[in-house]
Amino acid sequence: MKQIVVISGKGGTGKTVITGAFAALAKNKVMADCDVDAADLHLLLQPKIKERHDFRSGLSAVVDKKICQQCGKCIAVCRFNAISDSFVIDPVSCEGCAFCSHICPVGAIRMEENLAGEWFISETRFGPMVHAKLGIAEENSGKLVSLVRKQAKELAEKNNCDWVIIDGAPGIGCPVIASLSGIDCAVVVTEPTLSGLHDALRVIEVTKHFNVFSQLVINKYDLNPDMSEKIEEHCAKNRISLIGKVRFDKTVVEAMVRGKTIMEYKDTAVKDEICRIWEKLQV
Ligand code: SF4
Ligand code: SF4
Repeated sequence: MKQIVVISGKGGTGKTVITGAFAALAKNKVMADCDVDAADLHLLLQPKIKERHDFRSGLSAVVDKKICQQCGKCIAVCRFNAISDSFVIDPVSCEGCAFCSHICPVGAIRMEENLAGEWFISETRFGPMVHAKLGIAEENSGKLVSLVRKQAKELAEKNNCDWVIIDGAPGIGCPVIASLSGIDCAVVVTEPTLSGLHDALRVIEVTKHFNVFSQLVINKYDLNPDMSEKIEEHCAKNRISLIGKVRFDKTVVEAMVRGKTIMEYKDTAVKDEICRIWEKLQV
């Protein structure tokens, strides 16, 4: 079984379009949406949720009003002003340091795990998909990505799948790092701009650091042919594998608006270009 993650140096490069196309092309696979901060693969794959699970992460303090003696010590020690004058703790302001729970003379404060989001196992027209929704203002997206990855891998092993196709997070932060562990190949999608190249190089450095083989795709290459040429030259000089180029085509957006992957939509050159990339990935 091979695990492939599609990532990008920044959002909006077309990463999910490419992932959705791979989901349509790959046989016998599980899909995973690891872009948990801004998940959008579901817009293309329209999953039907079969299992729904809580994602708990981090701690918040809670006051038991029946025990509380209203001494005010907890308010005095909380550096985050998370405790109101009526001894109610705001879970958004609480940093979970637990200082108040240790200082409370009557043990009225307990630490509880936060409900930080949900994760799902769903069915799509292309096969099973594991995905998640992080709660508003919640952190620990790296932990949620690891959970989604683990569940997708287990599901793929159970079903004897050949592929796990992962929509990774953009950038170089914790969610990306979490989506790289144990990966066979990272497909890095970039646009033909100087900042696009800069961002892609940063994420390629991250893949190198974690010993993950990465291959670059230039999306919408024909919007800036000069810059695309510079990126190709840079790849050749720096031994970066350029696996393919995909042209700009407004039918990609049309397909997305209709909730379809480009592979299910009108016949275009874009489809052929993505097919060629997918064929190369199977070698
Ligand atoms: S320290 Fe304990 S008893 Fe005192 S106000 Fe806070 S919760 Fe109540
Ligand atoms: S756990 Fe820390 S941050 Fe949260 S209310 Fe208690 S002292 Fe404040």
